[in-house]
Amino acid sequence: MKQTHIKDSLNRPLRDLRISVIDRCNFRCQYCMPAEIFGPDFVFLPKNELLSYEEIERLARIFVGLGVEKIRLTGGEPLLRRELPLLVEKLSQIEGLEDIGLTTNGVLLPKFATQLKAAGLKRVNISLDSLKDELFGEINGRNVGTGPVIKGIHAAKEAGLGVKINMVVKKGLNHEEVLPMAKFCKENSLQLRYIEYMDVGDTNGWKMDDVVTKKEIFQQLNEHYDLEPVDPDYFGEVAKRYRYTGTDIDVGFITSVSESFCSSCTRSRLSANGQLYTCLFNGEGHDIKSFIRSNVSDDDIVGYVTDIWNHRNDRYSDVRTDETRKNRKKLEMSYIGG
Ligand code: SAM
Ligand code: SF4
Ligand code: SF4
Repeated sequence: MKQTHIKDSLNRPLRDLRISVIDRCNFRCQYCMPAEIFGPDFVFLPKNELLSYEEIERLARIFVGLGVEKIRLTGGEPLLRRELPLLVEKLSQIEGLEDIGLTTNGVLLPKFATQLKAAGLKRVNISLDSLKDELFGEINGRNVGTGPVIKGIHAAKEAGLGVKINMVVKKGLNHEEVLPMAKFCKENSLQLRYIEYMDVGDTNGWKMDDVVTKKEIFQQLNEHYDLEPVDPDYFGEVAKRYRYTGTDIDVGFITSVSESFCSSCTRSRLSANGQLYTCLFNGEGHDIKSFIRSNVSDDDIVGYVTDIWNHRNDRYSDVRTDETRKNRKKLEMSYIGG
């Protein structure tokens, strides 16, 4: 397939596409979909508001033609979307697409890992924020212990998928789990990524004081382990990585708050309701769903996406202040998927 490489107004190429395939979830993580707000009366999107697999495939093919190399499926909980392996299979046939990943809470991996791998999935990021059953149950808002997630991790490994663990660290909640999680992941040869708690959405009551920075986490780790920095594998790699000296096990940090990385941000996002976002913190997206449902040609869509990307100048984390936070309508994580 002929590929062009479009750039935004700050010279950043379009390399990644994240697709939130569903806004529903079987968890109610405090920092993402707090149970008080996402309660039994909360109205999720009806099926026809979600992009169909055919629509996602069409868009993915066009995005790959414009330079996208990696696609990550996310949600809500992506494994709640019916027949997700079918979508993976469609995407894996796109010429020029190098990598397909999935971010999941892991609970449904024992059911789907083998099918996903056979369909062409390469890797999964599994979220696990604590090893203590009670605390983890409190965080996920559904009293689910760590057992189902750990089973999911094993299922993914056994299926031959690459596995990374995502841990969001929030002060006063799970910062004491930083070292136990490091030990667990090191012993199980899993790459752990500590994620700074972010001000995504309007429902999680985010405060700067709740953020545990990379610096604080690194200090704790460094007291117990010898770590050496690892060079990024490619332009725009988000995690700052270190290796436990003498091993091939990495540990990474997603420093969205304390050390922003907008200057190398190559990510576009399709939200669960079919809007195109060029930044995790955009209040409003571009209604690409209505556009593609209006009988347009692929060339029209190429023009539409190119125009949006060419005009992109997002740098929210670089310029985050109390003012920018207040004055911005934000999209919930369950719509945009991280
Ligand atoms: N349900 C899946 C999961 O939990 O992995 C996929 C969707 S979830 C929204 C994607 C990622 O965003 C997860 O790793 C989750 O921990 C992270 N996340 C959610 N809310 C966050 C926040 N406020 N700050 C930082 N990361 C967050
Ligand atoms: Fe669900 Fe993932 Fe959000 Fe937790 S972080 S509520 S598992 S979407
Ligand atoms: Fe990219 Fe926006 Fe995050 Fe900056 S704030 S790294 S532009 S998604």
